[in-house]
Amino acid sequence: MASEQLEQFEGAATIEKVASLCRRRGFVFPTSDIYGGLGSSFDFGHYGVLLNDNVKAEWRRSMIQERDDVVALDSAIILNPQVWVASGHVDTFSDPLVDCRTCKLRFRADQLELASCGKRPSKHPGEYSECDLTEPRAFNLMFETYVGALRDDASIAYLRPETAQGIFVNFKNVTSSMRVKPPFGIAQIGKSFRNEITPGNFLFRMREFEQMEMEFFVPPPDAEEWHRYWIDRRHSWHLDLGLRTSHLRIRAHEAEELSHYARATSDIEYLYPIGWQELEGVANRGDYDLRQHTEASGTTLEWVGHEERYVPYVIEPAISVVRSTLAFLCDAYDEEVVAERPRTVLRLHPRLAPVKVAVLPLIGKDAAMTEKARSLYEELRKTMSAEYDDAAAIGKRYRRQDEIGTPWAVTIDEQTIADGTVTLRDRDTLAQERIAIDGVRQLLVDRLG
Ligand code: ATP
Repeated sequence: MASEQLEQFEGAATIEKVASLCRRRGFVFPTSDIYGGLGSSFDFGHYGVLLNDNVKAEWRRSMIQERDDVVALDSAIILNPQVWVASGHVDTFSDPLVDCRTCKLRFRADQLELASCGKRPSKHPGEYSECDLTEPRAFNLMFETYVGALRDDASIAYLRPETAQGIFVNFKNVTSSMRVKPPFGIAQIGKSFRNEITPGNFLFRMREFEQMEMEFFVPPPDAEEWHRYWIDRRHSWHLDLGLRTSHLRIRAHEAEELSHYARATSDIEYLYPIGWQELEGVANRGDYDLRQHTEASGTTLEWVGHEERYVPYVIEPAISVVRSTLAFLCDAYDEEVVAERPRTVLRLHPRLAPVKVAVLPLIGKDAAMTEKARSLYEELRKTMSAEYDDAAAIGKRYRRQDEIGTPWAVTIDEQTIADGTVTLRDRDTLAQERIAIDGVRQLLVDRLG
């Protein structure tokens, strides 16, 4: 559906540059850093937490708050292990892996091509074709753990690899306690865990990640129409929050790519600096899950009401917070030269920006200015995420806010003391408006929408 198909990411971002900014400015740190890290795992610092929270808030707003037909859920991470038997994960949630007998490294058989075009571990200098590879073997991606005092086969449990199953097993609880009727959805945000083998590209593929999933239950004859609806809705969500049209495309899965549960799936793909990759999947899961759980648990999961009785079909938009955050960061990252000085700027949508406004007294040592600035800051922080900064030269303070994506900066100067006006600086255009200090809060609230 994208108007044109780009070969390459358009913009200043590379994964390395985005990762470096994230670390330098306190968004993302390698996990357990002082012990050498842990593959495909990251910790989020202050601004990363705020950014992820904003991504989740926008998802909740569009999927729950602004709709009448979707309710929320927060299910447990460790479910009864029978759930994963019934869902098919114990048998089929696996990647085909091959080992190289020479270097002992392990690769996903379906991603050798990706690895052989330069992203391969440097330990292995030869071509894959020279490689001494084993036949592919299925490797289950679920993390196992034990529940209770005994460590035996009967106490094996799994960290959930998706949040969806927690929704299906609550179908009866929700339909009997909430006033819902198909078409309706159940939405959930929560951690999922996968023992991924392919090394990640920064946040793109992690071993623990938050998913934002919604299962939308519909009468079976309406499933295709609802599938198209949700592909379209989700595509618009990414665009409305600032991703470039040319960096998004929709790709329908070929029959042989479909997961065991899916009747049809379309991926919303984003052109990351590493190429086109799945950002979000929108699947038509049919009645597979409700039927599997009905059979395995003995509890009938169907819709009964208004003289009708049927097993609904399920449409599922599923995305992780990190893939979304990484796409927003890559799209927003920019470098430019202004008045012969280079600046790096994150042009994040104001609703996503970790800090909405910085309040800066022009001269940090001027008592009148700092007092006015602090009082404006106290007022603003009640409604939005704000920062006060009086250290260093003003240019340096602006550059720091540009790098963390703060859309507006308010500067308090001599004129403020004289006539009660301040300058409002726009991150993207660098335009400065002179406005009354009393009107700042309302103006920003209006601009945030
Ligand atoms: P892939 O083919 O990239 O492994 P998948 O098709 O297995 O992904 P789904 O099971 O459809 O992914 O998961 C739904 C969404 O969860 C994906 O669209 C993606 O946004 C996110 N996701 C899946 N695996 C990971 C991961 N390891 N790290 C971060 N996000 C992930």
